[in-house]
Amino acid sequence: MKDKRSGKIVLVAHCLLNVHSLEDNLATYPGLEEEVINLLIEKGVSLYQILCPEIELSGIFRKALPKESYDHPKIRKIYRQLADKIADNLKWYVKKDYKIIAVIGAEASPSCGIELVGRWKEKTKSKREFPRDIEFISGMGVFMEELKSALTKINVYPEWIGIPGKSIRTLKPESFEETLNKLNKLL
Ligand code: SF4
Repeated sequence: MKDKRSGKIVLVAHCLLNVHSLEDNLATYPGLEEEVINLLIEKGVSLYQILCPEIELSGIFRKALPKESYDHPKIRKIYRQLADKIADNLKWYVKKDYKIIAVIGAEASPSCGIELVGRWKEKTKSKREFPRDIEFISGMGVFMEELKSALTKINVYPEWIGIPGKSIRTLKPESFEETLNKLNKLL
């Protein structure tokens, strides 16, 4: 029997639907990423909310840190298990021929960044502070790397888009609008 579903699914980083999962001082909305979610509603896709990998790892009182703090074998193992569980769950949707069209991450997050991650600046080896001593470089967050490889194993090849968070929007204010346009064209 036919119903109204579009057959299109987008995976979203947990904090895009729940800013309370973010580290302190990083939220730019009271509840969720309004423009991004409104666009996704308009496009008629359903949202598959990924568990916040950092909460799985270390809970909600954690500090904001760069990628190198998360890029360790023990953390990768936990992230891989979470990514494999998601891929295992998504297999059902794939079997029904639904399309996993995109994964939307949180740009510059050490776990959920898509094209940018943070690293400590070279000169600041001691008394480092976030975000003062961070620079942003090309790279994917540790969890998204694991998710990409888990999805490849089930032959799912979505588009990968990173929503600029507070730090990136402060450095490059036009990046948010550019990302929304990109998302709009893609979906
Ligand atoms: S970016 Fe990822 S790790 Fe950070 S709060 Fe969002 S879901 Fe959690």
